[in-house]
Amino acid sequence: MARRYFIAGNWKMNKTAAEAKALIEGIKALEGSQTQVDVAVCTPFTALDAASKALAGSTIKLGAENLYPKASGAYTGEISPDMLKEFDCAYVILGHSERREYFKESDEFINEKVRFALENGLKPILCVGETLAQREGGQTIEVVSSQTKKGLASISADSAKNVVIAYEPVWAIGTGKTATPAMAQEVHAQIRKILSELFGADTAENMQILYGGSMKPENADELLKEKDIDGGLIGGAALKAESFVSLIKSAICAASR
Ligand code: PEP
Repeated sequence: MARRYFIAGNWKMNKTAAEAKALIEGIKALEGSQTQVDVAVCTPFTALDAASKALAGSTIKLGAENLYPKASGAYTGEISPDMLKEFDCAYVILGHSERREYFKESDEFINEKVRFALENGLKPILCVGETLAQREGGQTIEVVSSQTKKGLASISADSAKNVVIAYEPVWAIGTGKTATPAMAQEVHAQIRKILSELFGADTAENMQILYGGSMKPENADELLKEKDIDGGLIGGAALKAESFVSLIKSAICAASR
């Protein structure tokens, strides 16, 4: 399989700069130089400087949790791609369900951000996923398909190679409830089908699709066995070195199968 596994931490609004440094030192000490799988930590903006310095010399990449789709200007409180790149950010999480819900981000706005991130050399981790009501209403495939298509509108196949998709069922995020491997695989396969329609089979086969939603050491091995699950976007379990490293080890194990 050409695709590499990818374990990305989404720290959300957690960790000061000092705490970020300590957590990264902990991760690095245990698994900071492996090269079998891709690893990134996406930290709050205020921790990027400390995180970037702490990551020096490791194979772990840095990511941010958001950006604003303008180069500069009167956008109080927002942050531009150049500001993120100053700290060597490689990735940026876009369209997370918390931003869709609490900050009313639309698919169109998220698409604007995805395109701007790509134009500026950042790799978007585009999050899609259904709510509990949508799953119970039988709308999962429709919702996820629509979010994927709208999030990726007007993107070329060449640029799409730099996009990572994260399927995160909203009802599984931070709740301890996880989609079963079969439930997740069904949606991942549908996402890959859409990627294939949009960008061609070759590109779709090479794009990473992560699962997110209470992924933890206890359930990672089973999820990562599924054909279209290429890793995880990890919230809670990314906040402790031991659990995050255990997930990296699960991905290394899956990669060697
Ligand atoms: C997330 O918010 O991206 C996430 C997957 O969180 P958790 O792992 O805590 O469910």
